[in-house]
Amino acid sequence: TFSALLVEDKESQANLIELENVDALPNQGGDLLIRVTHSSLNYKDGLAVTGKGKVLRSFPIVPGIDLAGVVEDAGESTKFKAGDQVFVTGWGVGEQVSGGYAGFAKVKPEWAELIPEGLSAMHCMALGTAGFTAMLATLSLEDHKVLPDSGPVLVTGASGGVGSIAISLLAKRQYNVVASTGRIEEQGEYLKSLGASEIIHREELSSPSGRPLDSERWAGAIDSVGGETLASILRQTQYRGSVAACGLAGGASLPSTVLPFILRGVNLLGIDSVMCPSWLRKRAWSRMSEDIDLKTLEQLIQVIPLDAVPDAAQQILAGKIRGRIVVDMSL
Ligand code: NAP
Repeated sequence: TFSALLVEDKESQANLIELENVDALPNQGGDLLIRVTHSSLNYKDGLAVTGKGKVLRSFPIVPGIDLAGVVEDAGESTKFKAGDQVFVTGWGVGEQVSGGYAGFAKVKPEWAELIPEGLSAMHCMALGTAGFTAMLATLSLEDHKVLPDSGPVLVTGASGGVGSIAISLLAKRQYNVVASTGRIEEQGEYLKSLGASEIIHREELSSPSGRPLDSERWAGAIDSVGGETLASILRQTQYRGSVAACGLAGGASLPSTVLPFILRGVNLLGIDSVMCPSWLRKRAWSRMSEDIDLKTLEQLIQVIPLDAVPDAAQQILAGKIRGRIVVDMSL
């Protein structure tokens, strides 16, 4: 038997249950059988586990959009063999088919990748979808010529998973990183230790200025918040600057005008981690293993057992989690 967090239907929250064997896993995604050693908790997992957001597409289902572990049975696949250390993020795992919150997962081989050299399963999940998204956003800024000497780069939702890792990735490349947070008192020192050179309060960005454009402040930005915050960033972005939109922790609206785009040539860059194509995943993870500082990464994680996920899910939605949560199946 093995433990699993199961969501029965769209009205329910996740419950810890015991499954007899892998055949009892509901909603299997494919025939690559992975013994899950680690998973993680992202904002989206918080929505899935508490039943608060409509992120789950099919029931019953095991949530968990990230998983890492060991191949038990490669099925028909020639891509992997038993014993390979692999991980999966996105592709609808933990949303459309069962994901990481169980002792085993069955997924399509094309969704899995070998754990990058230099990283353990634990480190890989410490990064997870949040870290991968931060890397995609960083690469997208770079591709649009937001470079370390272009000027300050703003990171919003700074104490969260995407925010924390974005700060450390940008700092590693010598960007001048400004962190926006609602928790300056509690997390200011932490954000500086990740590499932020300046911290601003998120209220500075959370209301309309009444003008279509404001003074130019940012060469680039990585935004996890959306809503009025994203609109403020666009008004404040420098001529030909770029803003990577990753999230909606503050809302899904975008109350902006076209003026930043047509008068300042500002670029709004969409970032999606779920269906991101394999070539770009490879590029991002390879760059990640070069740029991530493992000591910094270890500072920003909290490791919890599977049965602590429902409580942690409530906390992530309440904006109370700092950095990343790793789920260790052996605890
Ligand atoms: P997280 O760890 O909960 O971080 C979100 C952070 O946003 C919080 O720590 C908080 O930071 C800030 N925040 C929370 N509520 C807020 C509010 N009402 N107004 C303003 N700021 C608020 O979540 P995450 O896993 O990093 O994900 C962040 C966002 O990105 C989520 O919306 C998630 O769905 C999205 N996301 C998207 C992708 C993609 O593929 N595009 C991938 C991963 C995540 P402070 O306390 O420092 O202010």
